[in-house]
Amino acid sequence: VMSRRAFIVGNWKMNGLGPAGAEIDAISAGAPDGPELLICAPATLIHRLSRRGVAIGGQDCHPKSSGAHTGDISAEMLADAGATAVIVGHSERRADHGETDETVAAKAQAARRAGLTAIICVGETEVERDSGAALDVVARQLDGSVPADASAANTVIAYEPVWAIGTGRTPNAAQIGEVHGVIRDWLKARFGAESDTIRILYGGSMKPANAAEILAIADVDGGLIGGASLKASDFLGIAAQA
Ligand code: PEP
Repeated sequence: VMSRRAFIVGNWKMNGLGPAGAEIDAISAGAPDGPELLICAPATLIHRLSRRGVAIGGQDCHPKSSGAHTGDISAEMLADAGATAVIVGHSERRADHGETDETVAAKAQAARRAGLTAIICVGETEVERDSGAALDVVARQLDGSVPADASAANTVIAYEPVWAIGTGRTPNAAQIGEVHGVIRDWLKARFGAESDTIRILYGGSMKPANAAEILAIADVDGGLIGGASLKASDFLGIAAQA
């Protein structure tokens, strides 16, 4: 089994104004040697925060490269602003904007077209977890959300149980390991030997206090961190354990 470099990704969501530059500078100054770090900032900040020592990503993109889509931002625009990656299919976008697996796949395809890493999010709701459907839901989301022409090199998967996002609750280690194992098997079936290079991130209420335990689980190759990425000290506290 080849070893994958840990990937610690922050998702700032709709947070961040001018002073965010200081957080990026603090993350850059305190970055540990091991893991790869990325902050997915609001689109308005990407240009300002890029080239300051921390890789910057977007949180969404439109499937098309340009055109009559008022208010939307293309993957090419994110790359032009200095982004190296983009989150697609976050559960907040699936819920708030009605994004389907098909939409997410088109966005992941756009990311590849623009030379960005696509961080494709999947994860079950609480009702789905309680009814025993979590593994089926994740497999179905992978089937639909990972585009047919995805490359191992531009693909990252984030397992984010919806009920764990922003709630302070997390699955237990066995539950996380079970889902990550299913995702790893799915990637192997889709990408063959190349799948060994694809990172699978866990996301949902990760913080410095639970990061070590979560990051030690087999097939957890890093984290996608919302709330605890807003303060450099919390984000670095997680990264230091990767
Ligand atoms: C997220 O929304 O990607 C996330 C993991 O949020 P939080 O860490 O706040 O649960």
